Amino acid sequence: MKCHCGKTLKESKLEFRGFLISGFKCSNCGQELFNPYEVDKVRKALNKQVKARKIAHSLVITLPKPVASLVKISEGDVLQWLVSKNKLILQKASVA
Ligand SMILES: [Zn+2]
Repeated sequence: MKCHCGKTLKESKLEFRGFLISGFKCSNCGQELFNPYEVDKVRKALNKQVKARKIAHSLVITLPKPVASLVKISEGDVLQWLVSKNKLILQKASVA
């Protein structure tokens, strides 16, 4: 695929709103073309909102399927919370 600058776009992983998705990048001018299907998946996942519900003495939230799929989390995975700048970050626990 040709870039507008005349060089060839190379297939690569590009960062889109914090996620690595596939696309093409020009090594000459830096032009990036994102895979529109993957851009759509990220947008849909980021638009999901969940409500904290109370169960016993804990608050429970669910992980919507599009989000779980995007970050490759599936049933049985062990997760851990991190806090950064007053935000919660949920990630797969590193297995010891
Ligand atoms: Zn270019």
